[in-house]
Amino acid sequence: MAEQFDVVIIGSGPGGYVAAVRAGQLGLKTAIIEKEKDARLGGTCGLRGCIPTKALLNAAHLYQKAGEFEHFGLKVDGLSYDWPGVQKYKSDVVAKNSAGVTYLMKKNKVAVYNGFAKILGPGKVEVALADGKKETLQTKNIIIATGSVVRPIPGFETDGKTVVNSDHILELQNVPKSLVVMGSGAVGTEFASVYHRFGSEVTLVELLDRIVPLEDAEVSKELQRAFKKQGIHVETDLKLDKMEKTKSGVKVSGKNAKGETITLEAEMLLVAVGRMPYLEGLGLENTKVKVSQRGTVEVNEFCQTAEPGIFAIGDVLPTAQLAHLASDEGILVVEQIAGKKVEPIKHNLVPNCTYCDPEVASVGLTEAKAKEAGYDVKIGKFPFSASGKARILGETDGFVKIVAEKKYDEVLGVHIIGPHATELLAEACVGMALETTAAELGRIMHAHPTVSESVREAAEGVHDQTIHM
Ligand SMILES: Cc1cc2nc3c(=O)[nH]c(=O)nc-3n(C[C@H](O)[C@H](O)[C@H](O)COP(=O)(O)OP(=O)(O)OC[C@H]3O[C@@H](n4cnc5c(N)ncnc54)[C@H](O)[C@@H]3O)c2cc1C
Repeated sequence: MAEQFDVVIIGSGPGGYVAAVRAGQLGLKTAIIEKEKDARLGGTCGLRGCIPTKALLNAAHLYQKAGEFEHFGLKVDGLSYDWPGVQKYKSDVVAKNSAGVTYLMKKNKVAVYNGFAKILGPGKVEVALADGKKETLQTKNIIIATGSVVRPIPGFETDGKTVVNSDHILELQNVPKSLVVMGSGAVGTEFASVYHRFGSEVTLVELLDRIVPLEDAEVSKELQRAFKKQGIHVETDLKLDKMEKTKSGVKVSGKNAKGETITLEAEMLLVAVGRMPYLEGLGLENTKVKVSQRGTVEVNEFCQTAEPGIFAIGDVLPTAQLAHLASDEGILVVEQIAGKKVEPIKHNLVPNCTYCDPEVASVGLTEAKAKEAGYDVKIGKFPFSASGKARILGETDGFVKIVAEKKYDEVLGVHIIGPHATELLAEACVGMALETTAAELGRIMHAHPTVSESVREAAEGVHDQTIHM
């Protein structure tokens, strides 16, 4: 007889596995299905996304720091790196993380199926198991958490050697001498930061008129300035439309805003221009689940699809492709299955994080978006060049910018570029969730010396009351 579950989750990324943990905690009989070879759990985030990239970024950061040791009065002779060693460090972190997810499944009594899941209809999921057998699971609820894959770009087909995507570039055997990165979002800028610091000559290309185009315009400008200072070449307003392989690598070209043809040659091209939901072979035709023209699953604010008992979370949705958002959606769905009262996710409070060098992080409205929305806006800004702790760290590029509105002084957005930006953002998220005013945030005592004081100073700046500027 088929196994009976309360909830079957398809996909073990940060959406699926977090949903499984909470389901276990709430006493729901839960199964998770993952197609990844050897039942490696963790999804894109754990295996090919957040975790491995941040390990490489950390190694790159330490290597760069070691190169700057003289600034701190320290000496390192014969500094070099061992690329296979860097790759091993990254792979070890990934393996430990994935093992941690496996442990969490066990701890929360979640049944793990290693195989490809197909929905046969509401309440019925078939698993083509890794050992070739098939099993059908009966369930009251199904959660689609099948995530996303790299979106192929016509004319820029990857071969895993000279033309690579974000999956390939994580596994390189050698650091390329030169690298063109197509796309300046989080993935593009992070890999530019990794490989530049390990010695590649990097050119970052963006179609729009500024890099990290979803961030506040001043953040884009500051990042471009910092990249230029470091030696990363940036081309904005450039629409690449041609690629050809050469003896030594690859040549790409396109027209810039002035109509000039720009040609770039490198040993390697990284195509970093987007991902698409992965719904292949999932059996949605056996359900009433609706998929939009863009290929995303249509849900309401409670992540319910058009088919009762089938939910969707994470990268299959049209919202931001972020691990923490996928996880929160997983919790939202499982808690409603368990009969708890839940609130829809507040998308204006989803933190954005880019771990390039310097880091970029933001929450809420940019200055331009706040004005567009009709707010009368006040800005507070504090540069890390005026922070004692940033000087101690030797990382003074960047700033904290706070966008508040005049009438009630409510903080509408916080934008940080600089040291530990992705960590500093947490207090902005808490503050904005509690509808803080700039005056309140500016009155919270912060430990000294910390880079977090810059958040307080920026909040004080909204009322022209920064202390250290
Ligand atoms: C290079 C890179 C860096 C990133 N860095 C960050 C970051 O720093 N911070 C951040 O927040 N986000 C980051 N992201 C985005 C983040 O990885 C995703 O938003 C997140 O993984 C989405 O989670 P998910 O659970 O929706 O799906 P995924 O993590 O994609 O997991 C889906 C899982 O479902 C499995 N699956 C699919 N179909 C089936 C099936 N039919 N049967 C069985 N299993 C199936 C897949 O094998 C996969 O393991 C990064 C992404 C990339 C590519």
